[in-house]
Amino acid sequence: MRISLLGPPGSGKGIYAEKLGKDFRVPVISVGNILREEVENKTEIGKKIENSMKKGNLVPDELVLKLVNDRAGKKEDIIFDGFPRTIKQINVDIDLIVSLTCSDKVCIKRIKDRRICEKCNKIYNILTLKPKKKGICDVCGGKLVSRNDQGEDVIKDRLRIFRKETLPVIEYFKKKGNLDEINAERSVDDIYLDIRKLFKPKK
Ligand code: ADP
Repeated sequence: MRISLLGPPGSGKGIYAEKLGKDFRVPVISVGNILREEVENKTEIGKKIENSMKKGNLVPDELVLKLVNDRAGKKEDIIFDGFPRTIKQINVDIDLIVSLTCSDKVCIKRIKDRRICEKCNKIYNILTLKPKKKGICDVCGGKLVSRNDQGEDVIKDRLRIFRKETLPVIEYFKKKGNLDEINAERSVDDIYLDIRKLFKPKK
């Protein structure tokens, strides 16, 4: 099964995608992580997208589609995190969309409290998903940092872009009948249980 987690920035897509991937041993395609790696590694692509990512803008559709297609191939079981984010990106087979719903207020608070491991990208929250040792990743010992797109103005822009570009994608799949909505303002464990029930890998 190819499942995709969509929702506003801060709704928790990344955390649940990572958990599902581990539990079911299924590959996760996190477009945000892939793009951040390109920037960190200073690749040709990375240099081109660095500025727009910092501002919270979306990266061009053609580029995202290429990166996703290269990784997805013909794999039957995949977890997509943050894809497709625009109508033009609806160009890859996906069986089920999980739409995480969350108010702007909660999203903004969560993003401010979010930290990620600079080495392995694992996501933490300084209030609700704390590491065992302050500032250090439980898994790889890497340093926990804020992302460079976490400023209040940038967050508000990303929420605006979500409404303009990604809500139409959610509406499209809702009409098609392969979308489940999940209230993402509950505890991580409760939300994850609900998402887990929806994922039925083929292998
Ligand atoms: P968030 O869900 O908090 O926005 P992500 O890690 O999913 O975080 O995305 C971070 C950034 O990566 C986005 O602001 C955007 O610049 C870029 N990005 C991620 N997914 C896509 C996509 N499908 N299309 C275009 N740009 C994307």
